[in-house]
Amino acid sequence: MVKHGSILIALLVAPLAFGGSWTVCVTDGSALLTPPVRGAVTREFHSLMGGHGTGLAFDKCTKDGSRIHLVIKDEPPDGLEGVLGLARRNRDRIEPQLQVFYGSLVRYLGEPNSSEAVGRAVARVAAHEAAHFLEQQSHHCQRGLLQAMLSAYELLAADPVPFHFDPQCAPDASEGHAPETLAISAMP
Ligand SMILES: [Zn+2]
Repeated sequence: MVKHGSILIALLVAPLAFGGSWTVCVTDGSALLTPPVRGAVTREFHSLMGGHGTGLAFDKCTKDGSRIHLVIKDEPPDGLEGVLGLARRNRDRIEPQLQVFYGSLVRYLGEPNSSEAVGRAVARVAAHEAAHFLEQQSHHCQRGLLQAMLSAYELLAADPVPFHFDPQCAPDASEGHAPETLAISAMP
């Protein structure tokens, strides 16, 4: 009976993440992103995730449907210096609460970069964290959107091919067990 119970729960939980359409609702309370960067974030996110039914909107998130919350912050929490983004985890479940650390990201990318390129990088980190939630997957992949190490060059590049979202990815064997904290990070 216990086994049946856990299978049922898995089936009930899975469609929440995999099915239907999701909107990533972005809160940028300190206006860290300029309007041109926001435009680029929106375009790149749609090109990466739109085909998977996931969109992104700044500030106003009025559409009905399921929401993922993304907060743009300047710096990561103490002890997580250099981290570019986080997805919150609660026990075995990855929650629809994401963060991207803009100050950390800009330093990692180096300067100067165009608004278009910076927006692409923000969108790629956001899509990486969203993919952790959508797939309910805490491990990383050898390639694609869920690779653990995203180089500055890859984050800035016009070519989106390295960021294709592959739910059936090969797990990154070099990665140990995922950390038991809430931190699931895109690290330099
Ligand atoms: Zn990650």
